[in-house]
Amino acid sequence: MPHCASSDCQTWRPQPFVRLARVGVRVDGEWFCSTACVESTAETRLRIPDVAFETAPRPPIRLGALLVHAGSITSAQVKEALQSQGSSGLRIGAELRRLGYVDKDAVLSALADQAGVSYLRTVDPSCVRQAPGGLCRDEIRALGVVPIRTEVREDIPVMVVACAAPVPRTALTALRALTGHKTLVYLVSDEDLEALMAAYAADVPAQSRVRVQWTHDRHEAARRIAEVAAISGDVTLREAHLDPLTWIRVVGKHGVDTMFVTPGGTHEEVPQWLAGTTPH
Ligand SMILES: [Zn+2]
Repeated sequence: MPHCASSDCQTWRPQPFVRLARVGVRVDGEWFCSTACVESTAETRLRIPDVAFETAPRPPIRLGALLVHAGSITSAQVKEALQSQGSSGLRIGAELRRLGYVDKDAVLSALADQAGVSYLRTVDPSCVRQAPGGLCRDEIRALGVVPIRTEVREDIPVMVVACAAPVPRTALTALRALTGHKTLVYLVSDEDLEALMAAYAADVPAQSRVRVQWTHDRHEAARRIAEVAAISGDVTLREAHLDPLTWIRVVGKHGVDTMFVTPGGTHEEVPQWLAGTTPH
């Protein structure tokens, strides 16, 4: 006899009534008597802080030192590039390439070595036009990671993903938490990552795309979760923290709804690289 899974609700209904009349809503396999109960439980369950959490700055990559260590260039060449970088305004890798001291492959392989991952010399952006992994463009922008295919290895779903250096470890953890896939990471150049992001989901019809919403408080997020759950009747709810965002996915037979919660801020205050995408 199902009891409402909301901790402060005493409602129960006879099993046949729930099953046959399709009363209530299921979230992660638990029965709730009403959308109000889903909303209050979601709000408690979501561990969204009221203010944006501090971001530790990523340490800069000592690319010059890496390349010297790999035997690709000399320290005199790094010194020269560091000086001429002042006038060209290029990043060190690009400056070394402009000077003709290294090629794209040498830079990629040094960065991949440092991160302990493999790399792809080239990648055809058309491989992501059908949105492998079923994400949307806002999600891959927020992650800084693009799924390039999914496969099953020894009964485990694996998502093969591309990213640029430095490897965004937090984003990969979030991706695993929200999709249930293991990830296999390949490093690509900044240019190739940008091309993949631009091509991702280009061939997916608008009506079957992941729906994306942005909000800045958890009350609103909980309300929307309840709405989506009510439409679908039976959903799974996953969340991951992806500083400065909390990323929430509600998956049901209706499709996938993604929510980005930006505590203490608005969509407009989110860094340009996160928000500068076209909503579907
Ligand atoms: Zn209830």
